[in-house]
Amino acid sequence: MDFDYDLFVIGAGSGGIRLSWMVAISGAKVAVAEQSRVGGTCVIRGCVPKKLLVYASRYGEDLVDAAGYGWQVETRGCSWATLIERKNREIDRLNAAYVGMLETAGVTLCPGRAVIADPHTVVIAHDGRRITARHIVVATGAWPALPSIPGIEHAITSNEALEMRELPRRIAVVGGGYIAVEFAGIFNGLGSQVDLLYRGEQILRGFDDDVRQMLADEMAKKGIAIRNRTSVLALDKATDGTLHTTLDSGGCGDYDAVLFATGRAPNSGGLGLEGAGVALDAKGAVVVDAFSRTSVESIHAIGDVTSRVPLTPVAVSEGAALAATLFGGRPTPADHNNVPSAVFSQPEVGTVGMTEAEARAAFGELDLYKTSFRPMRHTLSGRDERSFMKLVVERASQRVVGAHMVGRDAAEIIQGIAIAVKMGASKAQFDMTVGVHPTSAEEFVTMREPWAPPASPACPVSGDPGLQKS
Ligand code: NDP
Repeated sequence: MDFDYDLFVIGAGSGGIRLSWMVAISGAKVAVAEQSRVGGTCVIRGCVPKKLLVYASRYGEDLVDAAGYGWQVETRGCSWATLIERKNREIDRLNAAYVGMLETAGVTLCPGRAVIADPHTVVIAHDGRRITARHIVVATGAWPALPSIPGIEHAITSNEALEMRELPRRIAVVGGGYIAVEFAGIFNGLGSQVDLLYRGEQILRGFDDDVRQMLADEMAKKGIAIRNRTSVLALDKATDGTLHTTLDSGGCGDYDAVLFATGRAPNSGGLGLEGAGVALDAKGAVVVDAFSRTSVESIHAIGDVTSRVPLTPVAVSEGAALAATLFGGRPTPADHNNVPSAVFSQPEVGTVGMTEAEARAAFGELDLYKTSFRPMRHTLSGRDERSFMKLVVERASQRVVGAHMVGRDAAEIIQGIAIAVKMGASKAQFDMTVGVHPTSAEEFVTMREPWAPPASPACPVSGDPGLQKS
């Protein structure tokens, strides 16, 4: 049977771009539909603009800390309008770069919404064009999910938070996951008064418990009011624009903005998936096997729409694996083991492998190594900020099965540690590695004594006193 294209990808986000580019440069005929802007969540309204705002928000503290090093700096604060304008320019540049990259590779871009009509046909919604393809891949990502409470229409999500006209003087951030914690840090760093309202016991559920506690303590030191066990029951908007929150605790609060970061739902509606026979799970995620194949042989799905591990680099690696499977003659399953990740909170969190609780459930006996110290940078700045690192070691094999950090540059540091964990390095191999001195990162290879809970009320401080860490 003849098809218009070998591959039709719905969604030009991180996964869809990588897949369509790889397949096109191998010589196959590829088209990709995008209803918004090429780049998807990560580039247009996620990781990239968020990280730029994180950078911006750190300068306030850095300028204060510089005084400890003799700098005499006067600041009149950050211009939100300038920041957003410059961020938008950078996003435009990246969007154009991705469009150029796809076009150079020979990918046909189909602006608009594509709907699956049958296992080999899509229809472009606005002009009714029918396009056939040997393989169809759904890479439509996810979208912020909001609870249905009265007044929720007054809330914003991370999408709007990146585009606000003014920096809110007072903001409530609802949720305790990646996005909530990151935006709480951004707004706090830029000078807003921030309340973080989380329904659970402690922020960052699913992360190592020591990391959660440490980050909550450090965020509180910076002035973020974390209110755990708190849910918003309703929002009201006053005539002056003030948002009034009613809380389940009986309390309330007034804000200029209320940001809900309460998770993301797969973009699987209205795509014709059910009609074509593609199975979805109870939450609307496309069900796939290890090779990203759906219940229909010619239709695959990658990235956040499958709700496997909703991270950009994972979507990219799923796209690359699928290109190898469908067009490279090398069936390659997606690999979701030991995926490192970072939360760009302030300070940052970096993590790879198992939490202590996960490892205990899997292996029973563990050796734990922990260190908490004031980084050298803050000896002269005087800032009361501590860093924390933890290694989780399976006792029987002495394999490092988890590494966790809270502290400046944790994201950068954990990337290197992740290679060792992925390779199955033992604690002895960590110990064998010479540290880079003087750094915080060297603590990962100098923690010698296992942590002993009853005897040590506080985490032992390891390492060389010459490091000036304390
Ligand atoms: P998460 O799933 O990480 O967190 C959602 C939070 O909202 C949780 O704290 C959850 O509470 C809470 N929540 C869910 N529903 C409700 C509700 N009805 N009322 C009140 N609170 C609620 O989602 P995010 O939106 O933060 O991020 C989505 C995904 O995007 C992440 O899982 C991550 O994979 C990815 N991401 C990655 C980033 C990175 O790599 N740095 C940055 C940003 C996003 P509870 O814990 O009780 O369930």
